[in-house]
Amino acid sequence: MIPYKHEAFTDFTKEENKKAIQEGYKTVEGYMGQDFPLIIGGERITTEEKIVSYNPANKTEVVGSVSKANQELASKAMDVADATFNTWKKVKPEIRADVLFKAAAIMRRRKFEFSALLSKEAGKTWVEADVEAAEAIDFLEYYGRQMLRLKDGQPVESRPGEYNRYDYIPMGVAVVISPWNFPFAIMAGTAVAAMVTGNTVLLKPASTTPIVAYKFMEVLEEAGMPAGVVNFIPGSGAEVGDFMVDHPRTRLISFTGSRDVGLRIFERSSKLSEGQIWIKRVIAEMGGKDTIVVDKEADLELAAQSIVKSAFGFSGQKCSACSRAVIVEDVYDQVLNRVEELTKALSVGVPDQDEHFVGPVIDGAAFKKIMSYIEIGKGEGRLVAGGTGDDSKGFFIQPTVIADLDPKARIMQEEIFGPVVGIAKAKDFDEALEIANNTEYGLTGAVITNNRMNQEKAREDFHVGNLYFNRGCTGAIVGYQPFGGFNMSGTDSKAGGPDYLTLHLQAKTTSEML
Ligand code: GLU
Repeated sequence: MIPYKHEAFTDFTKEENKKAIQEGYKTVEGYMGQDFPLIIGGERITTEEKIVSYNPANKTEVVGSVSKANQELASKAMDVADATFNTWKKVKPEIRADVLFKAAAIMRRRKFEFSALLSKEAGKTWVEADVEAAEAIDFLEYYGRQMLRLKDGQPVESRPGEYNRYDYIPMGVAVVISPWNFPFAIMAGTAVAAMVTGNTVLLKPASTTPIVAYKFMEVLEEAGMPAGVVNFIPGSGAEVGDFMVDHPRTRLISFTGSRDVGLRIFERSSKLSEGQIWIKRVIAEMGGKDTIVVDKEADLELAAQSIVKSAFGFSGQKCSACSRAVIVEDVYDQVLNRVEELTKALSVGVPDQDEHFVGPVIDGAAFKKIMSYIEIGKGEGRLVAGGTGDDSKGFFIQPTVIADLDPKARIMQEEIFGPVVGIAKAKDFDEALEIANNTEYGLTGAVITNNRMNQEKAREDFHVGNLYFNRGCTGAIVGYQPFGGFNMSGTDSKAGGPDYLTLHLQAKTTSEML
């Protein structure tokens, strides 16, 4: 087996790659606007009610529609997944992993198509789409190998005359509820983690981005996944999401999304349903309010570049995005001026034209929410760049910088999930760290400093799941920077890390007298 290595990113300045993505668009255009069914036990089921997916950069363009599950169909899917668990759990881990390796190979061959689809359905720029497609492949390659590592359990001691073993066994049916901001990578990663560990899956993709999930289902089928192992159940959270979370046969819930929905799932899953004989396990990866701290002894150009790139990549719609910068007062004006310059130079536009760094936000509701935060920000601080939006064609918002904020201002505390960064001044590095820790979240953070002692102080005291030094705070790589946060950012499941699969398994001790 070739050792794991992350998938290389594509250089879109090269003509051949520009051509390849255009080919990808052609393939996507070949199926755009089509209607895609639910998949339950391999069976295609079409319903009257649909979820329609639109291009956020061109809001009248339909990417496709999917059938919408109701409770009856979700219940049927649960029965199928529950029954399939009895066979799938007995399939050797090596064979389950092989499905992932084969699927990764298919995805690699279709990478430009998936990137084009991500650009149409989620509004990603080519670069962001390519990074996500690479990450999706990485998750499969990495978790496949992790399953091989875990298949014989972990060593435990045995006394003379005794043979002890510690094995991991699958749990049951996993409900996987995936987000729209990484509708390929996180969707695929969370689904295959549950599946490769021998569980069966009800996959409910985000309603704004279901087509890429359907296309991924096709990949799994082509890779040899037996019918009923992963079932495709798009639907409304309130109707189908709650129903699946509450179901007594649900063993595990893997959710990525907002804090409020995560807490709702956590609460609901703690209540016993009639006939339920276990405590449901919940993996919840939620929001962030991530800070870049700039020390006075620092590369100030790197600081400004890191802030701008982490704040505005994919229009700030990452839970890892830099939504706050805290700058030590000695260098505050200098860094802020450069952030202003860089931000004003960013071009915003339709992401299938490669020169744009910033694309649209996901939909009308997001547009409204972000614009209202910008209004709040104008009252709380000083608008330095951006501040305007245009939703006439697509949902475009100018990258926005709001400076001179009180650390307790709403812009500094609440997750906006858009291209808005709040900036505050600290009198020294210690105060900057204090401000960085003053939210209820704890996902990512970065420190730009050349002072080794300050860096080490941050390593200990900056309470986030992913802390970066002298770089931006987005772009964790599977297998290199396991990803997940503290406090209200979630259960710190560390996706793409060595412990991740064990969250989908239960450990069984056996002890034999020889
Ligand atoms: N893993 C991504 C990163 O490191 C963010 C994932 C998310 O936004 O949900 O940037």
